[in-house]
Amino acid sequence: MTALVNSADSHVVEPLDLWQQRLPRHLRDRAPRVAEVDGKWVFLVEGMPPRRMGGPSTNTDGKAGGEGAAASQESRFRAGGWDPDERARDLDADGVWGEVLYPTIALFGFMIPDAELRMETARAYNDWLAETFSAASKRFAGAAMIPVQDVDAAVDEIERVAALGLRSVMLPMHAPAERPYNSADYDAVWAAASHHGMPCSFHVGTGSSPWTERGPGGAVINYVEVGLGAQRTLAYLAASGVLERFPELHVVMVECGAGWLSWLLERMDEAFEEHAQWVNPKLPEPPSSYVRRQGHVTFGNDAAGVVNRSFTGVEALLWASDYPHPEGTWPHTRETLDRIFNDVSATERRTITYETTAALYGLEAPA
Ligand code: MN
Repeated sequence: MTALVNSADSHVVEPLDLWQQRLPRHLRDRAPRVAEVDGKWVFLVEGMPPRRMGGPSTNTDGKAGGEGAAASQESRFRAGGWDPDERARDLDADGVWGEVLYPTIALFGFMIPDAELRMETARAYNDWLAETFSAASKRFAGAAMIPVQDVDAAVDEIERVAALGLRSVMLPMHAPAERPYNSADYDAVWAAASHHGMPCSFHVGTGSSPWTERGPGGAVINYVEVGLGAQRTLAYLAASGVLERFPELHVVMVECGAGWLSWLLERMDEAFEEHAQWVNPKLPEPPSSYVRRQGHVTFGNDAAGVVNRSFTGVEALLWASDYPHPEGTWPHTRETLDRIFNDVSATERRTITYETTAALYGLEAPA
């Protein structure tokens, strides 16, 4: 029997009416939702243009759905997106033990311009995630949505979700322009996450629009551009001394691949050494050593990242399925892993596909 694996990046699919049901009454007509506009189904999130939903999963078995709007939304994804029992069955069939759970619609909630609507959207999502998945099984490590424009409110919400049983703090990949992640203002956020042993994660495409280029090459250019956010964020956290000041803090760049990590480590250290007279703060160790100790990246299928593991450290790499999104490996996870890890020792494979995620998020399978 093949060993079980954990996925460091999987997704829930929020019910259509989550925010219309759960937001404070005076905000419900501005709730993030799915609606039919000009005959097309779109996400409506205040502050961003209506966005067409992705195509149906090739893995859909046709069981999900019902009448009207619900069928149109839900038949695009497997029921495991919102039903923990269905989800557990799918994981069992695919050889996956545990998952770190990220949202689908709520990924865009970080861009809501209004402070109250943004934070209440996060709180409603976090409540639903904890009630639906954390309460159902220890296999599900929920990542709480934590907007950071108001640091005090962010810390309050971290304290609240820690008590609800959520196990990671999801911050926007793109920090607010007026306050990048090297600002000492965020120290209370790093301290709260460290205190609760919650890794801080930064999912691709959060905090700024992932669709900026509309000209020739746009789809490919935008896919590259959103991935670059992980390099910037990790450089801010390592070079500014955040990781040095909070040695218990772990940071995870989610769904940006892994091959770039080697380049970033060398690039940061080159500046640290060759431009030493301009470097501030002068950290005790080069930036790469903090990333090797406390930084991680998730990937689904990234040959270059795996080849470079002796340089980055095996612990930096976290395998992820992206279930139930159509790009993900379900239901072919075993075959995918055998292909990706063809030349990798069983010990290293187990570290990347199970051990590090188990340690970071408490995703240990029973013996
Ligand atoms: Mn993802």
